[in-house]
Amino acid sequence: MRVLIVEDDDIVADAVARGLCAEHWSVKRAASAEAALAALAAGEFDLAIVDVGLPGSDGLSFIRRLRGAGKTLPTLVLTARCTLADRVKALDLGADDFLAKPFEAPELAARCRALVRRAHGAQGGVIKMRRLSIDLAGRRLCIDQQDVELTAREWLMLECLVKRVGLIVSKERLLQALAHPDQEMSANAVEVHVSRLRAKLGEAAVIRSLRGLGYRLEEPGTPP
Ligand code: CA
Repeated sequence: MRVLIVEDDDIVADAVARGLCAEHWSVKRAASAEAALAALAAGEFDLAIVDVGLPGSDGLSFIRRLRGAGKTLPTLVLTARCTLADRVKALDLGADDFLAKPFEAPELAARCRALVRRAHGAQGGVIKMRRLSIDLAGRRLCIDQQDVELTAREWLMLECLVKRVGLIVSKERLLQALAHPDQEMSANAVEVHVSRLRAKLGEAAVIRSLRGLGYRLEEPGTPP
């Protein structure tokens, strides 16, 4: 999952980022509404965590602009003031959930999981293929009803591919998903993780390489 943290206070942003990185979510930070809009224009996110008190345009106007631009990604608002009037205003402007500061990391993670699960909608966040069932929020892969263990990196790859099952995912997008601020990525990281993921999927699903384009997750036997 990719999360955009919109918070100008470094201490809070660090704590949020640490909590989510521990959950193997990939995090990008923006210290203002303008920086956040630029990040959203440049990449895809599954969730935005938005502080109300931002310099310049505040968090609530940011959410209004986001909704005005037709973006539907779930948003969790962080605020020091959490009166009923504040909640109503934020929800009216298009926020999905609220968390009052100070908060505990496990609660933040749980709220984020719930929002993403809800956004994945009626399926309850579970994507089904013929032999595979992939629970994105619960991070669980089953092949023929048997649980299969994946590493964090393998998950990130599978998540990217499965959200666009049957469609091409570019190598850049996969590399972006694997990138971690504390770790160097080797040039062939995508190939390495694709091949590990293929080994785990066995014959239950195919990750097809499309030269120069990227990769595609398919049901076995799909014509090229
Ligand atoms: Ca702030």
